[in-house]
This record gives sequence, C-alpha cells and structure tokens, in this order.
Amino acid sequence: MALIVQKYGGSSVADAEKIRSVARRVAASAEGNQLVVVVSAMGRTTDQLVELSAQISPSPDPRELDMLLATGEQVTIALLAMALHALGRKARSLTGPQVGLKTDGAHGKARITEINAERVRQALDADAIAVVAGFQGLSDADEITTLGRGGSDLTAVALAAALKADVCEIYTDVDGVYTADPNVVPEARKLPRVAYDEMLEMASLGAKVLQSRSVEFAKKYGVAVHVRSTFKPDAGTLVTKEERQMEEVVVTAVTHDRSQAKVSILRVPDRPGLAAQVFGAIAANNIVVDMIVQNISRDGYTDMSFTVPRGDHARAVTALEAVAKKVGADGVAHDERIAKVSIVGVGMRSHSGVAVRMFAALAQEGINIQMISTSEIAISCVIEDKYAELAVRALHDTFDVGRGRA
Ligand code: ADP
Ligand code: ASP
Ligand code: MG
Repeated sequence: MALIVQKYGGSSVADAEKIRSVARRVAASAEGNQLVVVVSAMGRTTDQLVELSAQISPSPDPRELDMLLATGEQVTIALLAMALHALGRKARSLTGPQVGLKTDGAHGKARITEINAERVRQALDADAIAVVAGFQGLSDADEITTLGRGGSDLTAVALAAALKADVCEIYTDVDGVYTADPNVVPEARKLPRVAYDEMLEMASLGAKVLQSRSVEFAKKYGVAVHVRSTFKPDAGTLVTKEERQMEEVVVTAVTHDRSQAKVSILRVPDRPGLAAQVFGAIAANNIVVDMIVQNISRDGYTDMSFTVPRGDHARAVTALEAVAKKVGADGVAHDERIAKVSIVGVGMRSHSGVAVRMFAALAQEGINIQMISTSEIAISCVIEDKYAELAVRALHDTFDVGRGRA
C-alpha cells in the first residue's frame, strides 16, 4: 500500500463536471492506497477574488485579502468530498489550519514553518481520503495566511514531505513539464525527467507549471514530484535528483516571464555608497529586485537599471524619485513593456559558448538585448515585450532544446 499525495490545479476543478471527473480519478487511485488530495480554487476564482477586492480598495489590508482568497480553496474541498461520497467513498475535507499547516505572518507570501498533519493521519487511519485545501495556512498569531500565487503546489509537496509519502503527483492542464510553454511553442517536447535545480530555475524564470517555492521544498526534502495531466492517463515528468547523463543536453528548456518592469535612475553621482542608498530605499518598501545593470561611469555620473515585479513598479518609482532628489540624480525612468527570456540546463556547466549562441540567435531576429544575467545553469536576457514569443521560438530552434533527454 502506497501513500500518495495528489494535487489538482484550478483548471482541473473548474466546474462541477470536472470535480466529478477528478473524484473518479481520485477514487481509482485510492484503490489499495492511502490518498491525500490537495486542491486549488475552481478555475479563475482566485483572480476573480483579487479583482473583487480591487473594486473595494486599491490596496486592501493584507490580512483581509488572505481571509478572502482562502475561501476559494474551501469551496473546492467541500465539493470534492461530496463528489467522493456520491461514489460511495469515505472522504473528509480539511482546511490548511485544520491540517496544522503553520506559517509565518507574511500575508500573501507566507512561509511554512511546521506541519503536524495529525488530522490527515486520522482521516487516513479511518480509511478516508483526506481532501485538503491548498494555498492556505495559519500563522502563530492564529491568522489565516496564503502561500503566494500557485501555492497549492507547495501545500502538496509539504504534506508529501511531512507524511513521507511515496510520491507527490501534480495534476494539471498540460501532461508534463515541456522544453518551453507548450501553449507558446507548439514544437516543445515533454521532458521525461528534469533535475530539481533545472526545475527551480525554470519556475523562477517564468514556467508557472510548478510554483518555485514548491520545487525548493521538494529538493530540500527529497520529495519525488510527478507532473502529469488531469485529463489523460499518460506518464508525465519526474522532477528528481540530478543524474550524470542529464549533463549531455546543453539546454533543457526555454522560459519567458512577462511579469516584470524595468526601472532606471538616471545620472546618479558615481561614488561609494550610492548603490546601497538606492537599493536600500527599494528594500525598505519590501520590493524584490531581480536583474541589475549599472552603466559605465561618464564624467562622474552613471545610470542604474533594474527589474521589479510589475505590480510593484509604481511604488519602486516613487521610492526612487525620493532618492534621486536626495542624491542629485537627473530623474527616474520606467518601462513595463519588457520580457525576460531564459535558457536553462545543467549541461551548461560543462559546455562553453552557450551565451554567444543565445545572443546571436536573438540578434538574427533583430531583437535588442537590454539586460543580461547568468547563473551556473541559466542565462537570461531582458528584451522588448513584443518580441517575447518570437525570442522563445528562436531559442528553442537554435538549441534543439531538450533533444536527447531521457
Ligand atoms: P494549475 O492551475 O494546474 O496549477 P498552472 O496554470 O499553474 O496550472 O500551470 C500550468 C501551465 O503552465 C500550463 O497551462 C502552461 O501554459 C504553463 N507552462 C509554462 N511553462 C511550461 C513548461 N515549460 N511546461 C509545461 N507547462 C508550462
Ligand atoms: N488558487 C491559488 C492561485 O490561484 C493557489 C493555486 O492555485 O495554487 O494562485
Ligand atoms: Mg499552478
């Protein structure tokens, strides 16, 4: 008898018929196994709740926003439990707080501090299927928190780790992890296996098929994650430890991210301590900076540009304008029409000349590179947003991405 954690995303439980069909799949998997099912809110519910709150207030209180967003998942667990009952199965719905999923108090992006999972074990011991609300937890101050967008993936992985499950299956609307977003690149290939580090880079560079923190967690606790389709029976992609043979493929995936904006502070006096002052002002506003570029200094002045989440860019500009005035910079500029395209692969560690090929492929399409950043297994370029899809397809072609990955 195996202990399996399954997670079904929003599109998999978008309406009553889909919930009934998930219930049939869950019931079949529960045959001879212990089963914990984590679900997301139905369809676009979370987006709609965010939109609704914006109609009431442009900057809602984070505690109340979490209170609102957590309702989405609670609807799904009750409906799925009812659908399982209708199939003659024992099932018990449980919220994040009920399963003892403890977090810190950072509303909207809470971190898991502890899971005791006692109620889940009780349900399993009573031969019931445990149906758990993803995305939500309880802080030390007994406040309802949420784990960041896509956070049901994290709930599933964390429960799998806490319960020492045999596998954590992530069911979604694609049948695995592809070499690029299959909705953008029709030629993208399904990867049978992908290393934790690759998946982590892919997720943080825009491949939303898994939430990046869930991958971090899976790597830390060695949770075997299987990404597969809700609607098809085929095997999907295994996210696992790196194997030597994975390095033979140079580029495993191409990702893109259209959720950032570029902000620049112009003609800053070039002297020690200025960067600390500029980024100190951004950090004081809890804004996460991603890529940073500082131009060559001319006549004692320089420009600094960096990227921030699009939703934070107005606050970043306000903070920078204050710094600009204080240090005697010329002003602040911003651009929301940017995209970040990246190539990812553990094979990059042992192959040279990869960056040159990437830049040449973009140049050949007439695409100008505004910023560059690299890690050991990824290279990213910021380009004009309108070229994002063209760039992804060009890079996918150039590197014959994923070819040969077993
Ligand atoms: P869920 O609602 O099940 O959590 P998501 O919408 O969060 O599903 O994630 C699935 C989506 O991720 C797919 O529909 C696909 O468009 C997108 N995606 C982006 N990059 C990739 C990739 N490399 N492989 C597979 N899917 C990807
Ligand atoms: N419902 C939440 C969201 O849309 C969590 C999730 O689906 O993973 O972000
Ligand atoms: Mg998701």
